[in-house]
Amino acid sequence: MCGAVRIRARGEPFGAPYCHCQDCRKSTGAPVSLLVGYEEEQVQVERGVPNVYESSPGVRRLFCGDCGTSISYEDDRLPGEIYIHVGIFDDPAAFGPTVHSWHSQRLEYINILDDLPRHHESSRPR
Ligand SMILES: [Zn+2]
Ligand SMILES: [Zn+2]
Repeated sequence: MCGAVRIRARGEPFGAPYCHCQDCRKSTGAPVSLLVGYEEEQVQVERGVPNVYESSPGVRRLFCGDCGTSISYEDDRLPGEIYIHVGIFDDPAAFGPTVHSWHSQRLEYINILDDLPRHHESSRPR
């Protein structure tokens, strides 16, 4: 939001999961997250140094230390993958969601009308 941190992702993401998990909710304050998944070599920090918070063992959430914007999610159980919050992209409309993760933790009033696969837990084997 403030521009202190800027990251660039190149090429096509491998997917874009909605995440309904409680940890994403608490981390962002939003009722559901949409994350864009890239291989880590596709992503570079171009400006600034993100802060890192380990929200559970092996799970790192990057955020801007100046304005608090949520940047990304990384999980040691998903090696080499980085999930970037869609809202920080210059053109978030360029991405389409591909799957629902942690549908079991969905807030009951969140009803997204699509036919995407709904996973009880993580959409990625780990
Ligand atoms: Zn989540
Ligand atoms: Zn910032």
